[in-house]
Amino acid sequence: MNKNLQDRLQEELENLREQGLYNNIQTLESPQGAWVEIEGQEKLNFCSNNYLGLANHPEVVNAAQRAVEQYGVGPGAVRTIAGTMELHRELEKKLAEFKKAEATITFQSGFNANLAVIPAIMNKQDIIISDELNHASIIDGCRLSGADIRIYQHADLDSLREQLEQAREDDPDKIMVVTDGVFSMDGDITPLPEIVDLAREFDAIVMVDDAHGEGVLGSHGRGIVDHFELHGQVDIEIGTFSKAFGTMGGCAAGSKTLIEYLEQQARPFLFSSAVTPADVAATIKAVEILQQDDELVQKLWNNKEIFQEKMKQAGFDVGKTVTPITPVMIGDAKTAQKFSARLMEEGIFATSIGFPTVPRGKARIRVMLSATHSQDDLEFALDKFKKIGRELELIE
Ligand code: PMP
Repeated sequence: MNKNLQDRLQEELENLREQGLYNNIQTLESPQGAWVEIEGQEKLNFCSNNYLGLANHPEVVNAAQRAVEQYGVGPGAVRTIAGTMELHRELEKKLAEFKKAEATITFQSGFNANLAVIPAIMNKQDIIISDELNHASIIDGCRLSGADIRIYQHADLDSLREQLEQAREDDPDKIMVVTDGVFSMDGDITPLPEIVDLAREFDAIVMVDDAHGEGVLGSHGRGIVDHFELHGQVDIEIGTFSKAFGTMGGCAAGSKTLIEYLEQQARPFLFSSAVTPADVAATIKAVEILQQDDELVQKLWNNKEIFQEKMKQAGFDVGKTVTPITPVMIGDAKTAQKFSARLMEEGIFATSIGFPTVPRGKARIRVMLSATHSQDDLEFALDKFKKIGRELELIE
């Protein structure tokens, strides 16, 4: 390897370690679940996005196995050549019904969905107005589009109005407002009805990335549009299957025209191979399970109520979350890393998150609650959090 590059990378890695920002990547030796095995030991899993336990649900696993037997393992091609199988079409139809949208298109991941949709719709003549805390994949999608990117303060409608006024004055071809639905590091929800009203006033397109709302918000986990009863009023709704649905893949929902256009123009759809039959079949099953029953969604929200209330009573700051995402605010990145390491010693797998994923000085342990957690699991965790919180003098 080029010596200069090697030295620079070493230096950067050293910097990350010194600042407590180096990711210590854990390896799981078991399936996803309430408990996972790491280095031969059982740990309470407090950091997966497997909100409903579908990643290892027997019916979902079985659907994937059957698809492998029937269709094999690989997609063979991109969707626009020979990669579209009847399974892809079945998923897109079922998903549209589930989300009460006109149509949907699926991609290889949620990240890819943003990289696919934003540059297909927006270009150099346009302005995108983006929430300051939007996910990296939205940011990258905006950059790829070549549009003029303007930032509004997080979930702040006055700031958004100011940007919309300025954008209208600058007279671009199109204006888009783009936001996460649920903010993955804080667990708060974007004020979508007000954003839709504002966008209408300024004739702007609205796009929401519902990665953490899919399977979590709305009736039966239909997502943020259903949660606010905004069906037909949000131009583009992005989703991922890798979180509550427990599988892998991403999607966009919207009008038939939008979806037909994306099938022609979205580059990851045209130039990266289709999702595998196993993944698609598993996602179909996940949608069917949610459609039939919302028991898992209810259990998830019940766990949220119990755990967050007891953490607050214990003196922890869980920020402004209103969803099962539970940020345990610590502040200093090194203390957060220490907290996480102590949790691991005590049997809990919960990672610390620092800059650049969250702003400097706002490091935290991000607890991801799941319907798979039992009441005993939550009590076990509360005891350990309290013990370590006192040790590190974060609570009394
Ligand atoms: N968008 C948001 C808001 C997310 O939180 C994530 C996952 N971190 C993604 C997109 C990416 O989804 P996927 O893992 O399916 O690529």
